[in-house]
Amino acid sequence: MAHIVVIGAGIGGLPTVYELRRLLPSHHQITLISNQPLFTFIPSLPWVALNLISLQRIQLEIEPLVKKRGIHWLLGTVTKLDPKRQQITVEDEIITYDYVIVATGAELALDAVSGLGPETGSTQSICNPHHAKQASQAWSEFLADPGPLVVGAVPGASCFGPAYEFAMLADQTLRRLQQRDRISITFVTPEPYLGHLGIGSMANSQALVTELMAAHNINVLENADICHISPDTIYLSNSQTLPFKYAMLLPPFRGPSFLRQIPGLTDEKGFLPVLPTGQHPDYPSLYGIGVVVQINPPEVTPIPIGVPKTGQMTEGMGMAVAHNIACELGEISSHLMSPTLEAMCLADFGQTGVCFLAAPILPDAITGQRRKAIALQGKWVSWSKTAFEQFFLFKMRHGWSVPWFERLALQGLGLSLVQ
Ligand SMILES: Cc1cc2nc3c(=O)[nH]c(=O)nc-3n(C[C@H](O)[C@H](O)[C@H](O)COP(=O)(O)OP(=O)(O)OC[C@H]3O[C@@H](n4cnc5c(N)ncnc54)[C@H](O)[C@@H]3O)c2cc1C
Repeated sequence: MAHIVVIGAGIGGLPTVYELRRLLPSHHQITLISNQPLFTFIPSLPWVALNLISLQRIQLEIEPLVKKRGIHWLLGTVTKLDPKRQQITVEDEIITYDYVIVATGAELALDAVSGLGPETGSTQSICNPHHAKQASQAWSEFLADPGPLVVGAVPGASCFGPAYEFAMLADQTLRRLQQRDRISITFVTPEPYLGHLGIGSMANSQALVTELMAAHNINVLENADICHISPDTIYLSNSQTLPFKYAMLLPPFRGPSFLRQIPGLTDEKGFLPVLPTGQHPDYPSLYGIGVVVQINPPEVTPIPIGVPKTGQMTEGMGMAVAHNIACELGEISSHLMSPTLEAMCLADFGQTGVCFLAAPILPDAITGQRRKAIALQGKWVSWSKTAFEQFFLFKMRHGWSVPWFERLALQGLGLSLVQ
């Protein structure tokens, strides 16, 4: 009997325990550890922050869902990992594992710029449920007493789609409330150009996003190197200043502190290097999936930025890792799998939306090309985003990882999660 532990019950961790349970007979123990009792569908947090939906709509209580499927549940924060002894410390409990899958997502590096973040500074974030709630409270106060609005990301950030989404949805909300003509919106980004998204060479993405920002009268600052934020002003390293009444700035991400404290385990940002199988190169019993995995940027940009790790990539990593562990345990006989790292990101822009498709996320090292790279615009994107949110929550409620018809639908689009 093996003991497989998954740390983190988010977009990566929860489908992965379901897939492990589907592949492994019940004599293998599966334990899910998370520091939150609720699963949150993170991609919908921009809607929560702008009071367009409730947080409750996108959350599920994890314990009853996993317990009835024979998965051991532990609510707590992992504070230490010993990859040599194969032990995890959850607060004051020590757990021994045969395999561990780290799916903790991002720790927010709010100390990257002074004045950043809702607790330690003066800006809002939408990267976790707690921050989205704070952002929504601040948004209500802003609507009652408005002023300049600044949206974007600071140097080192890697997840730009939600910032575009927030700016466009804020524009739409302000127009609906007939307040837009009194409020300037500035989009500030360390990307070298709009629509770069941390990966570049995204076909028509730059033209499309630039056109949309202009059409919605949103001022744009590219290559922006934000270096300090005071309670009402953003300072850039070129001496430019941006006064604001409300600012939503995405922070850089890093790996969790329990990984960063182990010498040589992670890169300098705390992200886990993994082989195509999802395993750490030095510790075959340690796997990583999702945002915690190291993916180096395909190009050097004037202001440093990272590569986005999207939900689809995360699910693909989880499916591959579950399959590979089942192979290692001799429960299935098949070749090992790796994630395709294909990314489809649906961004709701209110009256319209943009679907960014990069397959795979990193271009070919020699040709510099991707198999597919396109940005598609249409109202159907907004509807698809809502439909996908509901489908994902339905899957999580019913203990499904990636059902056959989802794999078939992806195939129909010329995409796949694993290879
Ligand atoms: C605002 C926003 C919008 C996004 N929109 C999209 C989108 O439209 N499309 C898309 O494809 N992707 C989108 N993404 C990316 C997507 O959300 C991520 O790819 C996905 O959430 C990554 O899954 P994960 O399992 O790695 O992390 P998460 O989903 O963040 O889950 C990590 C879990 O681990 C828990 N945890 C963390 N540390 C510990 C610890 N020490 N001990 C125990 N538990 C711990 C956390 O509480 C959390 O529950 C968006 C991201 C953000 C921030």
